This record gives sequence, structure tokens and C-alpha cells, in this order.
Amino acid sequence: MINRLVVIGAGAAGIMASISASNSGKKVLCLDGNSGIGHKLFLAGAGRCNLTSDIPLEEFFQNYHNGDFLRNSFAQFSNTDLMRFFEENGITLDVERGNRVFPATKSSQDIVAFFRNMLEKCRVQLWLRNRVMKIEKLDDGIFKIIAKKAEIFSKSVILATGGKSYPQTGSRGDGYKIARLLGHTIIKPVPVLCGMNLKEDWIKQWQGISLKNVEIKAVKGKNVIGREFGEALFTHYGISGPCVLNLSRVIAEIRNADGIKISIDFKPALEEKMLEKRLISEFQKNSNKSLKNIMKTLLPQNIIDEFLLMAALSGEIRGNQITTQQRSVLVSLLKDFQLTFDSLRGFDQAIVTRGGVSVKEINPKTMESKIVPGLFFAGEIIDVDGKTGGFNLQAAFSTGFVAGKYA
Ligand SMILES: Cc1cc2nc3c(=O)[nH]c(=O)nc-3n(C[C@H](O)[C@H](O)[C@H](O)COP(=O)(O)OP(=O)(O)OC[C@H]3O[C@@H](n4cnc5c(N)ncnc54)[C@H](O)[C@@H]3O)c2cc1C
Repeated sequence: MINRLVVIGAGAAGIMASISASNSGKKVLCLDGNSGIGHKLFLAGAGRCNLTSDIPLEEFFQNYHNGDFLRNSFAQFSNTDLMRFFEENGITLDVERGNRVFPATKSSQDIVAFFRNMLEKCRVQLWLRNRVMKIEKLDDGIFKIIAKKAEIFSKSVILATGGKSYPQTGSRGDGYKIARLLGHTIIKPVPVLCGMNLKEDWIKQWQGISLKNVEIKAVKGKNVIGREFGEALFTHYGISGPCVLNLSRVIAEIRNADGIKISIDFKPALEEKMLEKRLISEFQKNSNKSLKNIMKTLLPQNIIDEFLLMAALSGEIRGNQITTQQRSVLVSLLKDFQLTFDSLRGFDQAIVTRGGVSVKEINPKTMESKIVPGLFFAGEIIDVDGKTGGFNLQAAFSTGFVAGKYA
């Protein structure tokens, strides 16, 4: 039997592609190697599922690598279309700090259950535990899909197998091999939106400490190669948290990451002069208190010892004993606390994959391959990736919607 459309992958992109194809009147068979749909969706937003961002459409594209490629698909299915889609189908949404959009229940489980129902309503035939190994295009233009449980024939195929990150969710980079064998160029996949290993061994002592409203820069020599403002978290290996994840995207682009410093500005809202004034006032107000105690108004308590060690200052000196030179050492360290970058964490812990099917080989209006007619792509398999904040799911939903419409 020849199927009208086979969607490979039941993640965010494949699910949306299946729904969109079914809504445009197609009979859809959706295959996935897992025992259930949306395994990565379950994990999204730490189990809360940051579905998209509530910012004006024009501001979206600067948040992506290869963002311009998304313009056509977003024009057909934007963040507001996605939000309407959820709300019209019974999912109430909440917009949180930073324009992040979540289901009001804050549960990705509810989103996966919602999609399971939608697929059923749309009569999408799901064939789970059926990993696809290879796709061949036969002389009559039909695709032969070689899967674990059967050989399946189809007029059109949507490849929505995701990237290589979090392989335990089923996304192991299979789609890259399948696409390459069909003649596509695969831009080398690298892990992004991931934490950073630091060379300083003592950083383990700061494990679990989080920083809010800091600016973190990646610096090579005199060049600032990236800067992010927000939250960071120290871990047993180094540093993570939203602004570090976003910074990993620029480091991934550097060929030689030797010598990169990670510079933390603990007080980005204050210029050096203002910070100095603030210190003078703190030291005057607390002239008899120890420096260790005074620093509690400026830094999380459990990093103060190490911070003062770096400043070569005793925590026991009193506010009224601090010299101008010591104050300026404190100002410099508060504005530019340097750690040494070692490497990015691997695919096991990366939120997304940079690289994949080259955008040059995909028609951005339809998601159809420019090389193999009838083959479509959707989601993270494409060489597009975004910052944290709902950008990656939105890209998966928009490209999935368009691929489903045209396939
Ligand atoms: C921990 C974590 C948290 C995240 N949180 C967010 C968030 O809050 N907001 C956000 O925007 N983004 C988030 N992301 C990123 C986002 O989840 C992904 O970018 C998005 O899920 C990609 O969707 P996709 O459908 O392209 O791929 P995936 O979701 O990876 O789905 C691919 C599917 O294809 C299947 N598959 C793969 N190979 C085969 C094969 N050979 N045969 C059959 N099936 C196959 C897989 O089993 C899988 O079900 C998060 C990612 C992670 C890892």
C-alpha cells in the first residue's frame, strides 16, 4: 500500500506537521522509535514547557542562528498563531517574566496529553517503537522507508527526527544520516545551549550557588565575543544557567576556544564610578564591620571567601581600614571576575543541536527539499537553533506546520 504522507518523528515538529497535514485533508502515518510521543517535550522548560515567546514577530529572528530562514514559515504560523491554536483548543496560557509563554498548569505532561488527543482527533495513525533506518527514493518517485518493523511506501515524507542532543529522548542524529544518503549536505552538528566546564578546580565549592541579574561575557584576548545578562548557576563542573546557555551559542562558533575567559560582572547596572561610590557609602555606614560582612550586601554569602581570596584581601579588615587601592581591587573584581573556559558540555546535556540539514537546500516557503522533491524537513534537524525562552519549540512548531501543509 502506498501512503499519502509519512511523518518520521513524533516530537514537537512531527506532531505539528501531522496535525497540519491532517487539517489540510491528508491521511497521515507518523512513525517514531520511542514508545510514546513527545519525549523531549516532557522535559521542556524543566517540565513546565516554555512553548514560545510573546514578543513582536520582527524581534524573533535575531534570536536564532539562521533566523532569516524562518521568516516564511513564521509568516504562515507565528507565535500568536501558536498561542491561538492552544487557547482555541482548550490550553490556557500564561506569560511569565521575559515574555516566556507556558501552559497555565505549568505542566509539559498536560501538553503531551493534549497533543496525544489532537493526533487522535485528527486520525493520525501513530506507529511507535518503529525506528526508521533508511529512506530510498525509487525510480517511480515513491519513497521506500526502511523501518524496524516494516518497509513502508509513501508519496511524501516529512523528516522530523530532531537533533543529537539528549539522545535518551530518541533524538540520536538518525535523520542526518538518512538525509545525507538522500544527497543532502549536513552542517556539522555541535552541542549548544549547554553549560561550560571551567578550568578552576575550586569552582566545585560554589556548586549550587545561583546568581541573578549578572552580566556574563566570553572574552578572547581583547575581544568580547559574546555577552548575556540574566541568571547563572555554578555546578560541579563549572557554570550553567540561562545566560550561560545562551553564551554557549557564540562559543560554539569559535574554531579555537583556547584562552577564552568567562568574565562575570556582578553589578552590571552600576558603572565603575557608581560602584565605587556605593562601596564608599557601604564602608562609611559599616565602618566597624568586617569586610566579609559588608560584602554580604553585594554578593551571595557563600562566594565571599573565595572572592576575597582572589582579591588578596582579608575578610577580617574593618570598613574604615580599607584603602583606596583595596577598594579599586574590589571594584575591578566585582565588574570583571574572570574564570577560565575549558569546554562546552556535550550532546548529553545540550538543550539543542547547532548544525544539521543545510538551510540552503530547503525551500523556506514550503520546507520541501530543493534536492529531493517530495521530501520535507521540520524542526531541529534543520540547521536552525534559537536562544532559551521558547524559541526552539516555536521553530519546531512553525516549520512543522508549514511542512504538513505542503507535503
Ligand atoms: C531538557 C530540554 C529542555 C528544553 N526546553 C525547551 C523549552 O522549554 N522551550 C523550547 O523552546 N525548547 C526547549 N528545548 C528544545 C526543544 O525541546 C527542541 O528544540 C524541540 O523539541 C525540537 O523538536 P523536534 O520535533 O524537531 O525534535 P525532537 O523533539 O527531538 O523529536 C524528534 C523525534 O524523532 C524521533 N526519531 C528520531 N530518530 C528517529 C528514527 N530514526 N525513526 C523514528 N523516529 C525517530 C525521536 O524519537 C523524537 O520523538 C528543550 C530541550 C531539552 C533537551
